[in-house]
Amino acid sequence: MSLWRYRDRLPVEPLVTLNEGDTPLIPAPRLSERTGAEVWLKFEGANPTGSFKDRGMTVAVSAAVREGAQAVICASTGNTAASAAAYAARAGLRGAVIVPEGNIATGKLAQALMHDARVVALRGNFDEALRLVRELVERHPISLVNSVNEFRIDGQKTAAFEVCDGLGEAPDALFIPVGNAGNITSWHRGFEEYEDAIPRLLGFQAEGAAPLVHGRAVARPETVASAIRIGNPARGEEAMEAIASSRGSIRAVSDQEILAAYRLLAAKEGVFCEPASAASVAGLLKYGAEGRVVCVLTGHGLKDPTAALDQARSVIPCEPSLAAVEEVVMG
Ligand SMILES: *Cc1c(COP(=O)(O)O)cnc(C)c1O
Repeated sequence: MSLWRYRDRLPVEPLVTLNEGDTPLIPAPRLSERTGAEVWLKFEGANPTGSFKDRGMTVAVSAAVREGAQAVICASTGNTAASAAAYAARAGLRGAVIVPEGNIATGKLAQALMHDARVVALRGNFDEALRLVRELVERHPISLVNSVNEFRIDGQKTAAFEVCDGLGEAPDALFIPVGNAGNITSWHRGFEEYEDAIPRLLGFQAEGAAPLVHGRAVARPETVASAIRIGNPARGEEAMEAIASSRGSIRAVSDQEILAAYRLLAAKEGVFCEPASAASVAGLLKYGAEGRVVCVLTGHGLKDPTAALDQARSVIPCEPSLAAVEEVVMG
């Protein structure tokens, strides 16, 4: 099974696919107990390259192949780069990714490089990278696969179909991290097309990168959650309309709150996501919820091993004797 079971609602044939989508919808008993709501986790880290970006990429790269593009390019905080690189490799196209220098998580970088993309480290931030690739594709037969690409939005809307099919109906609320605001726009489109009640869309940005919360661009976005370290969201306006029409909201969570949710998910629910993904659960814990709610966990924890090792307990050195092992294991 893959998201291509919704082929009749997608704009292209599956020319380039790694069987993305159909990700686990996991009940969260500990979070439910804490909040009094019925909490579910949509674990998008289970996609082929470890983030929801694959849903959009299979559709966008299929369209690029149909249109005869010679290469695909994106600006990325990491996961779009990893995904674009994989789908370009699969399609036999050149892949090029522009990432902000020094700001990309190790796992994502390893993926982009292993998939043989040209990885360009820009001495600038994400917003500058996006501006440059937009200019580049005006001049060359290259397909831009950032979420400004409509095919990405269409692919990513399938997550909403899966949730509605999984629960039997739309949930009461959806908690979701927001960076460039493409994904919240996609979920909204998905719920609309599913033609059930649209849940309240509750988007969360990191305090140091919260342009939609403050109503203005942030020149130097800063947060531990690198996947949402974006100061000028490409789909900000659309996202704000979607949020308003669902009677939802966009709010900020601190890095501390994000990291607390990140640790709790791994240690108490057994679900390991990357820091940006935990912004949804940080929002749930901070602002509360009622009824049946879904938190979107956008990417896998293994994407950012540095963040994990920084947050977790240390390994325990031990002498090779039964007594010593007994003490550290049972003590
Ligand atoms: C891309 C990404 C986001 C943000 O999605 P937008 O569509 O940019 O709002 C959140 N979390 C992870 C892990 C991502 O890769």
